Amino acid sequence: MPVPPALTAEQRGQALQKAAQSRRQRADIKARVRASDLGVNDVLGLADSEPAIGKMRVNELLESLPGVGKIRASAIMNRLMISPTRRIQGLGVHQKALLLSEFKAAHPRGRLLVLSGPGGVGKSTVAARLRQISNFWVSISATTRDPRPGEKDGVDYYFLSKAEFKSKLARDEFLEWAQFAGASYGTPREDVEQALIAGNDVLLEIEIEGARQVRAHSKEAILVFLEPPSWEQLVSRLEGRGTDSPERRAERLELAQYELGLAKEFDIVLVNDEVEKVVAALVALASS
Ligand code: 5GP
Repeated sequence: MPVPPALTAEQRGQALQKAAQSRRQRADIKARVRASDLGVNDVLGLADSEPAIGKMRVNELLESLPGVGKIRASAIMNRLMISPTRRIQGLGVHQKALLLSEFKAAHPRGRLLVLSGPGGVGKSTVAARLRQISNFWVSISATTRDPRPGEKDGVDYYFLSKAEFKSKLARDEFLEWAQFAGASYGTPREDVEQALIAGNDVLLEIEIEGARQVRAHSKEAILVFLEPPSWEQLVSRLEGRGTDSPERRAERLELAQYELGLAKEFDIVLVNDEVEKVVAALVALASS
């Protein structure tokens, strides 16, 4: 067997810390399952985006369910032909479906939609309208940028100092995060998870790098790319933002041109020719 490279003391310390954090995460989930705060469907959904939960053994999950002890858990797994040592991440689609029908959910988990696209395309207008007219839960991001006139902390964003953002990042509290125009932006992981578990459909309105991170970690998310009706319209919107310097405007245009080429990475492309139409399409997607 090849000898693994020796770890430095610092690397070993980091690995131990990460393992301890994963154990704590699994213990927390099991406690919530025991308290009937989470069901099998919730944990299977969480395991898609959280590697530490994916590593939980299926028998540990079942034994945590109220009224299911070791003997019943083992009998169920035997009947569903799930190996006793199987971890959640190793379950096949069919085995997951069998487990879900065995433990029917009290309320179905909500859908996670990510709305992204180039700057100036009108994502925030769509998100605001969706919040007004539907039951969607629109995530409030954290950011290190300064509030604009009229923006309120906890409503438009959680406005954080750079140090506060950094420490949340170190504690892995963001589902995704990115730098944009010199500031950091991140989606609070726990808020989104709670909303989904409560059965709400959730919308993240974020830039493209963040959408890519969600794609990498979550199989359940539906990624929507918002496109302008034409390049000319996008240019006129970006140039209409009087607050930018000519250099900054040129940069934004260059970035927008690059970003428009990334639409193919998304599940669905919607053209923002009419806000109401885009909102209706998002509502329809969540119930599809
Ligand atoms: P603004 O500062 O104009 O409100 O937002 C700038 C950009 O950051 C927009 O493209 C917006 O979609 C994006 N954004 C807002 N919140 C987040 C977030 O939590 N994560 C990421 N990746 N982008 C975000």
